[in-house]
Amino acid sequence: MEWVGKCTVCTKDVYCRDGFLDGVVAGHPGVLYCHDCYEKHGGHAGDAGVPDSHGPEGLGPKDH
Ligand SMILES: [Zn+2]
Repeated sequence: MEWVGKCTVCTKDVYCRDGFLDGVVAGHPGVLYCHDCYEKHGGHAGDAGVPDSHGPEGLGPKDH
């Protein structure tokens, strides 16, 4: 288990276990959150993620 850093919000230690990060890195400067704080903040760190409210259906042109 490798220590990655501390959660920006609650300063809890965040580790990497077997290659899986036990938290979330969001935003361009790479702000580190634990899972709890990331859920509470809902990716509010300016992450330019794609909204996932609808599926990929209807976004692109379809072959007929
Ligand atoms: Zn936290």
